[in-house]
Amino acid sequence: MPEIQRRRAVTVNIGGVRVGSDSPVVVQSMTNTDTADVESSVQQIAALARAGSEMVRVTVNNDEAAKAVPAIVEELAKKGWSTPIIGDFHYNGHLLLRKYPETAKALAKYRINPGNVSIGRKDDDNFRTMVEVAVEHQKPVRIGVNWGSLDQALLTKMMDENSKSANPLAARDVMMEAMVVSALDNAAAAERYGLRRDQIILSAKVSGVRDLIDVYTELAKRCDYALHLGLTEAGMGMKGVVASAAGLAPLLLSGIGDTIRVSLTPTPGGDRSEEVRCGQQILQSLGIRSFMPQVTSCPGCGRTTSTYFQELAERIQGYLVASMPEWKKQYPGVEELKLAVMGCIVNGPGESKHANIGISLPGTFEEPKAPVYVDGKLFTTLKGDQIVEEFQVILDEYVEKRYGRVLVEV
Ligand code: SF4
Repeated sequence: MPEIQRRRAVTVNIGGVRVGSDSPVVVQSMTNTDTADVESSVQQIAALARAGSEMVRVTVNNDEAAKAVPAIVEELAKKGWSTPIIGDFHYNGHLLLRKYPETAKALAKYRINPGNVSIGRKDDDNFRTMVEVAVEHQKPVRIGVNWGSLDQALLTKMMDENSKSANPLAARDVMMEAMVVSALDNAAAAERYGLRRDQIILSAKVSGVRDLIDVYTELAKRCDYALHLGLTEAGMGMKGVVASAAGLAPLLLSGIGDTIRVSLTPTPGGDRSEEVRCGQQILQSLGIRSFMPQVTSCPGCGRTTSTYFQELAERIQGYLVASMPEWKKQYPGVEELKLAVMGCIVNGPGESKHANIGISLPGTFEEPKAPVYVDGKLFTTLKGDQIVEEFQVILDEYVEKRYGRVLVEV
């Protein structure tokens, strides 16, 4: 597969996680617990980290949340998690960061929304205060522009100028340009107030796929700051997953994007970690990073009248998810493993040969046997009602043999 040429971006160190052109694209997530509730927040951050979130953002919206941050970081450390915690600030970040220096110290990065940090002010003193705290504690910041809270004064000024121009742009294009300008102007201000370029990340989030691609393409052309990508509100379920993949893929394939977040709306009581797995899957599907063994399975058709093959695919997928926490420690590189679970012999053996291990189940009217291929060669043929269990044994043995550490006796 041809290598993707990453856009050159200044590398930022966020609590030990490097973000920028030479580093892998980082997957991050955000909690939806009340930050003031230390126990729930710690639990959710640990779950997100366990799922593979390499940074986790928490909202710091009031005194209680700000007071809770050092305790959250401490509790996580006690449990063995060193995942960098990012503080998300809006409206009152300048007050909270000054009032709670322990919080400013405990956080690995501050997210500043330039659209709501200086509402009703003619100066940018609030923004400046936040940057100065970041400089004092030597913390990076993300200047996160969002079209839902874009600097209205800037947008109005740009709309006015546009309406007077001989060739006015469409309102949508002015909005996109205002987002880019807001991000770049605030980044320049942050540098004037003492942050280094390698302490600044930019984002310009929108909720439309085409808007996302356009705004980041433009932003990427006009700066070398590291960029955080994501739709601001991707949506729920399939819509959120598909929109995120559709928006992020063209950018990532063009080498744009140093960290990503998939902002899925969870179902009530749903698993927040879905957004982490979705981000990982986008990167893995594009061949950018590997996180999990991949199962290729066919959609099934009239040649498979039973649900047996769907059940097998589901059980194998579940087995991989359950095994990975242990496998990751024991078997370095196992995330590159490729499996195929196919419904009949039409494409089954062919697809199986492209995988490390593949199984092709008998379709309707085929002989009741399931050929298993290992590294492209027919390995065995399974029969009877223990096919899943026997296939798992073959899988375990393969993983051990291929990825197990060789112990050298001394
Ligand atoms: S591999 Fe067989 S069962 Fe699966 S979609 Fe193709 S023809 Fe249908």
